[in-house]
Amino acid sequence: MPSFKCKDVGMNCPFEAEAKTEGELMTKIATHAAQAHGMTTVPADMMTKIKGAIKK
Ligand SMILES: [Zn+2]
Repeated sequence: MPSFKCKDVGMNCPFEAEAKTEGELMTKIATHAAQAHGMTTVPADMMTKIKGAIKK
């Protein structure tokens, strides 16, 4: 199952998420990024980091 830890992209944040699919996981991450980090849009370089940090 794909999983993601916010601290793996250099955030000082305990958030962890997992989902059945990478697409579903990205949605969870985007929601978290907006609510917890004020990122209403995720910059392309952060998106690259997030994709690199997702464990499959
Ligand atoms: Zn976070």
